[in-house]
Amino acid sequence: MTVLYKANAARGAVWARLFAERAPDLPFRVWPDLGAAEEVRYLVAWQPPDRIMKTFPNLEILFSVGAGVDQFDFPALPRSLPVVRMLEPGIAESMAEYVVLAVLGLHRDLVAFIDQQRREVWEEIQVRAPADRRVGVMGLGQLGQAALGRLKPFGFRLSGWNRSPRSIDGVACHAGDESLKAFLAEVDILVCLLPLTEATRGILDADLFAALPTGAGLVNCGRGGHLVEADLLAALDSGQIGAAILDVADQEPLPPGHPFWRHPRILLTPHIASMTRPSQAVDFVLDTIARHRRGEPLPGLVDRDAGY
Ligand code: NDP
Repeated sequence: MTVLYKANAARGAVWARLFAERAPDLPFRVWPDLGAAEEVRYLVAWQPPDRIMKTFPNLEILFSVGAGVDQFDFPALPRSLPVVRMLEPGIAESMAEYVVLAVLGLHRDLVAFIDQQRREVWEEIQVRAPADRRVGVMGLGQLGQAALGRLKPFGFRLSGWNRSPRSIDGVACHAGDESLKAFLAEVDILVCLLPLTEATRGILDADLFAALPTGAGLVNCGRGGHLVEADLLAALDSGQIGAAILDVADQEPLPPGHPFWRHPRILLTPHIASMTRPSQAVDFVLDTIARHRRGEPLPGLVDRDAGY
């Protein structure tokens, strides 16, 4: 019974050390060192190999090394194969930290000041009270809720939008497509923390921007596929969007010469809003394997129909 890791090789070496310490009897290998393929029962991957069940006929669980699973080609994976996304607590903690950074950055005009500095301009922008700033989060899952929790102490007016109804203390919650426009109309800084699915691909488009108050700020730390990049450029040009902080892009790394690189009202980070922490991730995988062996429900099990 082997656990195989197929993602960043340097991090794989850290996983191997942790497995050796915490589960010395459980064989752990790092791709491309497969050993006997029929022994592989658990695969922890960012991109699984093609023809996965042909390669690993006895595979019992496919783990995503990250919180998202949109990188998987679901039609190519047998429905009987459980897919589990990473739920180690460090992911939510660092995402909440990033969202606070980005929201405060937009609230205090950081993107504009970085541009002013480049142009050697010393000019004030009127500070607004947090109580006058409305922050809305799309996607009220583990990351959206963690972000809202960390935003609370700053005194912003908080709201959220989600597929199914949620009730979060101090947050005005909206649910379903029919409530999206009403939610957006009351949001000065919009944070996207949705999973990328057929229902959410391209959701950050011209129609959505038009439904926000003029000059709203955007934070995208979901996936690049949520954003229609040309629509954002047009909305920044017209002033409908004031500034954007983007952690993800449709093509990563962002290609040379892409207009986002030098846009004065876009601040980019290279998909680092949160990263899986090996120590807690190994505990999560070991705990999930133990639950699986006992026949218990698996935390982080992906709903194949919903796609997340
Ligand atoms: P969860 O599955 O816990 O939460 C997703 C939330 O989105 C759920 O509350 C879900 O609603 C809601 N949702 C799904 N589809 C829709 C829809 N069509 N309309 C409205 N709401 C919808 O995921 P996480 O919070 O753990 O992660 C969210 C995403 O964050 C990941 O999928 C990934 O894309 C991104 N991410 C980005 C990282 C980065 O570094 N930039 C790192 C980690 C994750 P419901 O309650 O009904 O299920």
